[in-house]
Amino acid sequence: MAVANTECNIKVLCRFRPLNQSEIIRGDKFIPTFQGDDTVILGGRSYAFDRVFPTNSTQEQVYDTCAKQIVKDVLGGYNGTIFAYGQTSSGKTHTMEGRLHDPQGMGIIPRIAEDIFKHIFAMDENLEFHIKVSYFEIYMDKIRDLLDVTKTNLSVHEDKHRVPYVKGCTERFVTSPEEVMDVIDQGKSNRHVAVTNMNEHSSRSHSIFLINIKQEHVETEQKICGKLYLVDLAGSEKVSKTGAEGAVLDEAKNINRSLSALGNVISALAEGTKTHVPYRDSKMTRILQDSLGGNCRTTMFICCSPSSYNDVETKSTLMFGQRAK
Ligand code: ADP
Ligand code: MG
Repeated sequence: MAVANTECNIKVLCRFRPLNQSEIIRGDKFIPTFQGDDTVILGGRSYAFDRVFPTNSTQEQVYDTCAKQIVKDVLGGYNGTIFAYGQTSSGKTHTMEGRLHDPQGMGIIPRIAEDIFKHIFAMDENLEFHIKVSYFEIYMDKIRDLLDVTKTNLSVHEDKHRVPYVKGCTERFVTSPEEVMDVIDQGKSNRHVAVTNMNEHSSRSHSIFLINIKQEHVETEQKICGKLYLVDLAGSEKVSKTGAEGAVLDEAKNINRSLSALGNVISALAEGTKTHVPYRDSKMTRILQDSLGGNCRTTMFICCSPSSYNDVETKSTLMFGQRAK
């Protein structure tokens, strides 16, 4: 993989989905051109990333180039975060989750689940593994547990080592990839029950899947811990200032604020020179604090539509990704 800066643990990858049926019917043009494996040209400007995935890239290629190594690192005791950023319908959920029970269509999360258990079975028999997962969403700055619908407003606390965590969030121990999939399915159906329009809702909330891995050597009692946050962000599209009012406008402002807080943290980390990283500016960045930057493995997927109809949003999405470089 072409890595612009090997010292930096933040990788920014850009993925373009194909034109969809309604875009083709409308006669939209396919606007990006791809150069090498790390550059996309749009509107006469070129944007370089650690890697660019054109529309025909497979889920397997994306996983193997970008996420596989993170699994090894987390098993080695590092923390990590993988994000998907982009406007609604740009391919965030396709990239993070994909089709859960389809070997070709599976996205990053199910592949990670399979890989973790593959590694574990190949490891030293004297290691004991405890793997637990949580699944929650942040909507209008409220944290809702997707594994327990009664928990609708959880708060962020710090443990005795000053590590932030979501207090009271359900944790499920898992012992196989199938169990991880079951947890995801359950979280998704809980989310369906709680809202009237699932598509609209999921585009306005951040969904966060956390995998916590603890291993202990049975003889030496040496422990290694690593955790991985997998984040499907709210849609980054700007709501037109004239059209939106009331609740919709409040949602839009809220999303805007949390995405800019994330952008500010990532760009402060990418610069590497800043002593102040503004983690405390949003709930999400507080939660992710010990899994972003520093020694952590951070990967941001910049998801884009190739359609001429979305060109303004796509440029703004690409610019967001450039801030992290
Ligand atoms: P988002 O989560 O950003 O709102 P989705 O991941 O739901 O967007 O994608 C919108 C639609 O486009 C879905 O039907 C999805 O299956 C399809 N899609 C997204 N990315 C790709 C891709 N790389 N290849 C094929 N289809 C894709
Ligand atoms: Mg989505």
